[in-house]
Amino acid sequence: MLYGKENREEADYLEPIFGSKDEKMDLPKYKLNKESIEPRIAYQLVKDEMLDEGNARLNLATFCQTYMEPEAVELMSQTLEKNVIDKSEYPRTAEIENRCVNMIADLWHAGNDEKFMGTSTIGSSEASMLGGMAMKFSWRKRAEKLGLDMHAQKPNLVISSGYQVCWEKFCVYWDIEMREVPMDQDHMSINLDKVMDYVDEYTIGIVGILGITYTGRYDDIQALNDLVEQYNQTTDYKVFIHVDAASGGFYAPFVEPNLIWDFQLNNVISINASGHKYGLVYPGVGWVIWRDQQYLPEELIFKVSYLGGEMPTMAINFSHSAAQLIGQYYNFIRYGFEGYQAIHQRTHDIAVYLAKAIEETGLFEIINDGSQLPLVCYKLKADFDKEWTLYDLSDRLLMKGWQVPAYPLPKNLDQTVIQRIVVRGDFGMNMAADYIQDMQQAIADLNQAHLVYHEKTEVKKYGFTH
Ligand SMILES: *Cc1c(COP(=O)(O)O)cnc(C)c1O
Repeated sequence: MLYGKENREEADYLEPIFGSKDEKMDLPKYKLNKESIEPRIAYQLVKDEMLDEGNARLNLATFCQTYMEPEAVELMSQTLEKNVIDKSEYPRTAEIENRCVNMIADLWHAGNDEKFMGTSTIGSSEASMLGGMAMKFSWRKRAEKLGLDMHAQKPNLVISSGYQVCWEKFCVYWDIEMREVPMDQDHMSINLDKVMDYVDEYTIGIVGILGITYTGRYDDIQALNDLVEQYNQTTDYKVFIHVDAASGGFYAPFVEPNLIWDFQLNNVISINASGHKYGLVYPGVGWVIWRDQQYLPEELIFKVSYLGGEMPTMAINFSHSAAQLIGQYYNFIRYGFEGYQAIHQRTHDIAVYLAKAIEETGLFEIINDGSQLPLVCYKLKADFDKEWTLYDLSDRLLMKGWQVPAYPLPKNLDQTVIQRIVVRGDFGMNMAADYIQDMQQAIADLNQAHLVYHEKTEVKKYGFTH
């Protein structure tokens, strides 16, 4: 959020309590207080400010991790002061990042005869920004060599309309035309009959999404790779694929190890994923890996000093804490392949259970049944004849603390309002059973209600949809 000047007069002061001499003091809300206060009071004051905020574990809207083991938390709180960028001062931390990149490249089947490169980031947004920049710079080099008129039109990026907002940001910030392949009812992921119609000499790349944020569906990256292979045989203006695997990158390899979507496909040149989604780390860590150095133009690499020498880095941010990175490494060695698999498999089973129980109410059409990403999406059946809407149901569930967003599908399908539940590792079967009970009660209450708040035809975003 961007914030502006606050001019509110009323209740402009925070008033500490709790039996201390500071309790007589007023603290301004929007200016620095003149004098300091005691740590205990400051702690209590800040903590209390957030008392009525949502409970993260009950937030069924987010992919981001809401639980880590106490040992991980301890390790992370003990390493908050380490700065990722300071490779000289923290060479062990740099080595930990290096190990993580290698583990992830291996998980995504980077080949032995190519030289993969990768880095941690703050999240998938930074990671996809880096992937996109590398595509833009590589495209420009290839196109200039082939003598393309670089001023005739803007470079473009091809992606399905189910993209996450980071790609729109990338295109706006780097002045690239975003070519959206519309999603329709029959193709709740990238439309393979149409996608290549959007590609031309000015296309910097195609983004395939492993786990569309709205519905959890995977783009068929293998089929996309085949189309790109055919296309590239007909032209000198080659095009390649970046996979936005923000949520699928640390999920599919464990739950669907036979699904081919990664560097096994030769036109997939880079992949990003969020460590803080199914990598099971608290927010802010992400990753981006290129299959080979040749796809990461030199100009984008900056050197920082490292043990008397230099080390290549690629990042938009400079200083930030290494705690998340260390949390990621902890999870990798703690869980190993089988640990991730077991956690995600259970998460999957719970999503499937929820989808079944929700379908059994008879009111909803299930759009995602948890079979790909562990998401459950549903809409009201066409013949639904009650007065209430999914927005009313969201309100009702919130009374029990559950945060479940309702929102329209992306462009071209935006008359369809859905509700979405994201199941995460810390959502156990006991919670799922409680949720279903609360949902049944909410439905019963709404069926009896004399007053519902939302118009039957209302279409709006309601809750957090990323
Ligand atoms: C969440 C998400 C992002 C953004 O990831 P952050 O790690 O939150 O920056 C990008 N793409 C997809 C498909 C996502 O689901």
